[in-house]
Order: sequence, then C-alpha cells, then structure tokens
Amino acid sequence: MNWQDFEQEQPFAAKMLKSSIEKNRVAHAYLYEGERGTGKRSASTLVAASLFCDNLQSNFIPCGDCVNCKRIKNGNHPDIHIVEPDGLSIKIEQIRSLRTEFSKSGVESKKKLYIIIDAEKMTIPAANSLLKFLEEPNVETTAILVTEQPQRILPTILSRCQTVSFKAIPVEVFTKKLKEAGINNTKAPLLATITNHLQEALALDGDDWFAQARKIVLNLYEVQKKGALYAMTSLQDEWIHHFKEKAQIDLGLNLLLLIYKDILYIQLGKEERLVFPDWREKFAADALQTSSRRLSEQMSAILEAKRKLNANMNPHLLMEQLVLNLQGGPSCV
Ligand SMILES: [Zn+2]
Repeated sequence: MNWQDFEQEQPFAAKMLKSSIEKNRVAHAYLYEGERGTGKRSASTLVAASLFCDNLQSNFIPCGDCVNCKRIKNGNHPDIHIVEPDGLSIKIEQIRSLRTEFSKSGVESKKKLYIIIDAEKMTIPAANSLLKFLEEPNVETTAILVTEQPQRILPTILSRCQTVSFKAIPVEVFTKKLKEAGINNTKAPLLATITNHLQEALALDGDDWFAQARKIVLNLYEVQKKGALYAMTSLQDEWIHHFKEKAQIDLGLNLLLLIYKDILYIQLGKEERLVFPDWREKFAADALQTSSRRLSEQMSAILEAKRKLNANMNPHLLMEQLVLNLQGGPSCV
C-alpha cells in the first residue's frame, strides 16, 4: 500500500497519520482499530517506512528503494519488531523479549518501532508487561497496536494510545480495487458491498456456492412477482436446500435486499450504484411498475425477516411469511 491508496481507502486515518509525520509529532503509541480488511496492518508498515526511509520523496512518500525501505518490505529491519499471536494469544515472554530487544540502543539509529498485531489477544500478564513498557519514557520508540476489538484491550493501555479508527472502505473505492485484482465488472460491485476484505472477495468470486446463491435469490425475486404459489415452489425447490445455516440464510436475505435497493437506485437515477449491473434492464422495467414506497415496505419486510432469523425463528416459516409480504403490486399512493 502507498499513501495514495491509503488516503483513498481511509481518508481520516491517513490524514491524521500523515500530518503527524509531517509535523514531526509522531505519538509514542497508537491504537489502529477497525474491522478486518480495512488495511490496518498495511498502514502500519507504510507509516514505518515513512518514519525510517533515508530518502523520503515529496509528500513524505517512502522511496521504496533505500536499505531501510527494503528491509521493511522484507520484514527484517533490525529496529522494527512485529509481535503476532503465538497460537491463540500473545504471551508475556513475547512482550518480555520485545522489551529486552528494545532496551539495547537502536542498531541503525536510536529510532525504534514495534507493531503488535491482534493486540486484544495479549494475556493479562502480557498486557501488564506492555503497560510498564509504555510507561517507560523512551522518546524514540513508537508503538502501533493493531486490533479489531478495541473493547477487549485494557483501559490503562488504551489511555496511553492515540486511537486511529479504520472505517469500512468506501464501496466505490473497493469495487475499483476488486476490478484491479481481476474480478469482472459484473461481480465486483456486489462483492464489494458484501465484504470489505480482498481475500474474502476473491474467494467468493471463485465460489460455486456463492454463484448458485446469487442465481437462486434472483430467481426467487423473479418468480415471486408472478404470485405466492410460484414463490413458495421456488422456496421449496431451491432456497431451503441451498440456504441451510443461519449465516447462509442471512447472506441470502442480504442479497435479496440488494435487489430491491438496486430497483430503488434506478428510480432515484443512481444507476452507477447498482450491484447487479447485468440485471439493469429487467430492474429498470420493474422500477416503472412499482413505487418507492412499496419498495421500502419490501425492504422493511426483508429486514424484519433478518431480525426474526436472529431471534431463532424457524427459517422455513420465516421465509414463507417473507414471500407473502413481498407479494403484490404497488400500494395505492
Ligand atoms: Zn526509502
């Protein structure tokens, strides 16, 4: 990742970190928090490169070519340490060895940086040991704690860190990234909507179950327009055999919801937001036959079904109720 990508994906986090580097006011400790796939780890390496590069380009962009940049890229810079969970947790020995390592003066310079990945996985003794380390005054050391679950980090540690929040990557930015990674134009918008994680999107892209799921949901949408009987048949023949586990049913409902959203986007003239671009013509015809009020009723019915699913209602019953609620043309306005 480079600063340009970082600024596109995480405008707030990037701006904050860049300005602290520019002003030479890098904090003693940071907490990078945000969901999986939001680029926290790549950002920590980028910041490290910007701090250590011998030949910073304009705009504080690391050159990528000097000894320090190369070592960071290869993960073997002597003054940068990355601590990751050893099995399920980060153990006190790992933090102790980090402290021992850092008590020696810097190999290359006095500057040192460490990154703790999945910091919430520190055991209590490990966290307490880190806390002592954070309390030791050491101006040239920077700590970056990375986590998806900041609520599981000791408040005493949190209070010593400057929090940098990583948000979900904007859908249009992530769609572009997926296309660059080789996902085709038809599939990229949908995948970017249901996940924020590149590897997950690539896996779904090649997944037969997901391809089939998309087809079944679109088919259910099509047949339910013809009447309740058709919809029930489609449920019995396809849906219930494919969507079995709770997470699968939830995904199916999300896909269904996105269909109604697409039709609403067409009504609103925001066709660039469609996640089923290959269905544009069909949806455009449907958009003329319905009202935005009816569409929002249908979307509410799907959200209600998601809530019932969460409350462990029988999934067959829940789906039957849903297709009945989706029935019918536009309500009289
Ligand atoms: Zn460099």
